[in-house]
Amino acid sequence: MRLGTIEAGGMKIICGIGDENGQIGKKAIIPTLHPRDTIPEILNFFASNHIEALGIGTFGPVEIDPASPQYGMITSTPKDGWRNFDLLGALKAQIDVPMVLDTDVNAAVLAEARWGAAKGLDNSVYITVGTGIGAGILAQGRLVHGLLHPEVGHMLIRRHPDDSFIGNCPYHHDCAEGIAAGPAIAKRWGKPGIELTHEEAVWDLEAFYLAQVIANLLLVLSTQKVILGGGVMGQKTLFPKIRHEVTRLLNGYIDKKAITENMHDLIVAPGLGSDAGLKGGLALIVNQRAGK
Ligand code: ZN
Repeated sequence: MRLGTIEAGGMKIICGIGDENGQIGKKAIIPTLHPRDTIPEILNFFASNHIEALGIGTFGPVEIDPASPQYGMITSTPKDGWRNFDLLGALKAQIDVPMVLDTDVNAAVLAEARWGAAKGLDNSVYITVGTGIGAGILAQGRLVHGLLHPEVGHMLIRRHPDDSFIGNCPYHHDCAEGIAAGPAIAKRWGKPGIELTHEEAVWDLEAFYLAQVIANLLLVLSTQKVILGGGVMGQKTLFPKIRHEVTRLLNGYIDKKAITENMHDLIVAPGLGSDAGLKGGLALIVNQRAGK
């Protein structure tokens, strides 16, 4: 089958053509500008590439309940033109194929569970750490939705006693995203993370915060795989630091080999690399067809 997929991020929107096995052929990258400029480019891509269904993983907050009249509508984003923008409606008005939409991170965790690092597991999370922090959650084989969708980035965590940075979140100041997303790193240290790669203190502190998010998720969800993606995780020294911190925080309480011996296999990079999000759109379609 020829399937369309969209990974809609805050900076760029990636459109792709793929199949039900998670293979991606053609793709295009479109900057996330005002919808009046961006939507026509998306429509243009799919107008010249015939598809039978379309799966969309998008930034949010977004209404993902198919029973809601607002299904597919971006809600409270500060992004210019996107607040209360009916993304799914704009696509449906011009593309006449079945569509399914979820958060970018829910799409990514689904792809990782089908084809990537969490293959065969029913309980996994995909956390992205970039301009924000977000997580998609697969619990007992199903994506977690609920009232809206998980907003893991705004989890409240303990501050490091030596960290005086006030935090960056307009709602909570020092929630996880406010204190550990890319913009928080840049504000605290005066330059972006990419220019701080050799500063151990930066990444020790980052691991201190991200490990709390992960420990909380492990405790709440009993998750079997934690996949960490996003721009900040390009700093590969973070992985061992985070594993070390999670082990320290849990302190032997969860007596399972996955945690006491195999942490390197529990907290991992995306198996699908940077394609996890784009393949997520394909996974959403496959999932919907399977009636999940
Ligand atoms: Zn927050």
